[in-house]
Amino acid sequence: MKKIIIVLLVFFAHNSFSQNIDSIIINKFFSEALSNNLAYDNLRYLCKNIGGRICGSTQSEYAVSWIKNLLDKLNLDTVFLQELMVRNWIRGDKEYAYISSQKFGKIEVNISSLGGSIGTGSNGLFGKVIEVKSYEELFEYDKDYITDKIIFFNQHLNPTYLNTFRAYGEVAKFRVAGAMNAAKLGATGVIIRSLTLSNDYYPHTGIMSYNDSIKKIPAVCISTNDADTLSTLLKLDKELKFYFRTNCYEGEEKTSYNVIGEIRGNKYPDKIILIGAHLDSWDTGEGAHDDGAGIVQCMEVLRLFKTLNISPNHTIRFCAFMDEEVAQRGGKKYAEIAKQKNEIHIAAIEADAGGTTPFGFSINADDIVFDKIKKWSDIFFQYNLFLIVKGGGGVDISFLKELNVPLIGLITDSQRYFDYHHSPNDRFENVHKRELQLGSASIAMLVYLIDKYDL
Ligand SMILES: [Zn+2]
Repeated sequence: MKKIIIVLLVFFAHNSFSQNIDSIIINKFFSEALSNNLAYDNLRYLCKNIGGRICGSTQSEYAVSWIKNLLDKLNLDTVFLQELMVRNWIRGDKEYAYISSQKFGKIEVNISSLGGSIGTGSNGLFGKVIEVKSYEELFEYDKDYITDKIIFFNQHLNPTYLNTFRAYGEVAKFRVAGAMNAAKLGATGVIIRSLTLSNDYYPHTGIMSYNDSIKKIPAVCISTNDADTLSTLLKLDKELKFYFRTNCYEGEEKTSYNVIGEIRGNKYPDKIILIGAHLDSWDTGEGAHDDGAGIVQCMEVLRLFKTLNISPNHTIRFCAFMDEEVAQRGGKKYAEIAKQKNEIHIAAIEADAGGTTPFGFSINADDIVFDKIKKWSDIFFQYNLFLIVKGGGGVDISFLKELNVPLIGLITDSQRYFDYHHSPNDRFENVHKRELQLGSASIAMLVYLIDKYDL
């Protein structure tokens, strides 16, 4: 009996000591992140000095050398580049569009080519418009009726969902496959209502795709305010026409890189905790929330470990993935090499939900791993991280799923995210310093706990 009591006392003493140490360290992550502007300053540089950086662009090359340089300065154990080929879609001159109506005259509107689209050629495209809100509605029309028309997908994001990613996910299919489906019926082009819940004049672009067996037609997005105008005028003048001119094209593929930096684990150097975000962004904005924020937050995690002199048991590896937006070649290449080398990842964490206030973590793993992370809820809760839920981890790390890696995504307050997403409004000024810094500390805390207690 005495023996049991002693064992229990030792256990509790050890446990509380350990919890105490954990609290002190985690608290230091937050104090350091909140009193230091480094991630925020890095984001300013990335946005203002490099700017939008779609894969294949000169800006994306600058971004690669910039981040490589910063990682070199962090005194990490390893910094290296992972080579890959990327598509090189080029927007060309600024797009131009207007509504032309006998009744209302000429009204210019804001559009943007969708990524991957072909251009209209220098004469542009001019034609009658048919508005639809679903594919069902589109396919009810006869081919004869659609032929030579421009299809206008005007579906709104559902405002009743608390999580705006859910609303986005529901309508993204029009942006991705609208052109393919309209072309099947003989349409000459498509206009997609921007995927945002805000009423603004920014076109919100994003990737679209073609099918080689279906004719390629140009696809653009239109700002939500202009979409409303077009919809209203169409009800009053069915004969109105729409003109747009886009100059985008697909250039030769280019060599690019994932950029990787790591702090080697002192006990299990071969076991990796991966943290990542994507370095590329759409070209029309500065890629501040998407995903400059994730990039500087993950880099800050490495800095926090270094500055606080925490030597991890496992290797903490940061990967700045190239090309999430166009063809996800960076994520695919990373997983391919991890597989080739038989690398062991005990977890992969991605920050790609914007630099707003962190709310918690979304976990794609088996129940045992999920429950283990969930058990840390009390600690997370102290830092206002109240959501520990099952869900996706992130696009770049998703390719590690076949290696059975637990995938974790940072959840942030999503209410404003799509106000900025893929638009000229995704600017540094729209990122809040403290919200951004809280994200870094939140990831650092999770990495620390996984490193110490394993998964
Ligand atoms: Zn992103």
